[in-house]
Amino acid sequence: MSKLAFPSKQVGDLNITAVSDGYLHASFDFLANIDPDNASRMQENAGIKDHTSIHINCYLVRGGGRTVLIDAGAGGFKQWGGRLRSNLLLAGIQPSEIDAILLTHAHPDHVGGLMDASGEAAFPNAELVVHNREVAFWQDDGNLSRAPERARGNFLVARQAFEGYRDRLRTFDAGEVLTGMTAMPLPGHTDGHTGYRLESGGQNLLVWGDIVHFPQIQIPRPDVTIAFDQDSHLAASTRSRLLDLVSSERLLIAGMHLGELGFAHIRRDGENYAIDYE
Ligand SMILES: [Zn+2]
Repeated sequence: MSKLAFPSKQVGDLNITAVSDGYLHASFDFLANIDPDNASRMQENAGIKDHTSIHINCYLVRGGGRTVLIDAGAGGFKQWGGRLRSNLLLAGIQPSEIDAILLTHAHPDHVGGLMDASGEAAFPNAELVVHNREVAFWQDDGNLSRAPERARGNFLVARQAFEGYRDRLRTFDAGEVLTGMTAMPLPGHTDGHTGYRLESGGQNLLVWGDIVHFPQIQIPRPDVTIAFDQDSHLAASTRSRLLDLVSSERLLIAGMHLGELGFAHIRRDGENYAIDYE
């Protein structure tokens, strides 16, 4: 069977493939520290036609006898994404072959695809691996009661996902979660927001989760935050710190909202940063 070519990188023995889940849309009214006209202009100048669309990537990691997925897309929640399953099949992967799913965090565009339409676990043989603070946050009824109306449904989706995988849910604090895959806590966007550093054969790749939602705006302007951030100040400082780190280390990055190309380097551009897709 011929397999469709998705963006892919080899890191030592690990093969990492960007698998698209599709798109969601977010109004520029959700952005802080920038006015919508300016945000539109930055998207236009970067050659982006649909200014407010946000692409959703998941990453398939194969090697060392494992088939791992990092995040699971939106699964059609609010008509966002929902393409992961069919794209995995196009990549030659059956859902039953996935043996572990690492979560960067539990927002619906990352966990919506964990459950199928009938309410069953979409990945029947996968262990679900997530930061303990992320699970604790979404399970807390006080946090639910304090959440704005807009965000209440997010608790339901996260709780359904944790419940659906409850007998194979593994939480961590930091450190290596699977061989060659090390958790890097990146708090701010959510309490347990986590990147994963993949290392093999002396090569490295960082999957940085939701460090940016609009890369062509937030990489040159790391101070621009989005209403989905639980702690926008912390999210912005984590973003700045990480951009400094990945640009000075020339670290290959992957991110759930980097766009369809899926992989990039960040470089210093005067006082700012710029993205170079790979
Ligand atoms: Zn997201």
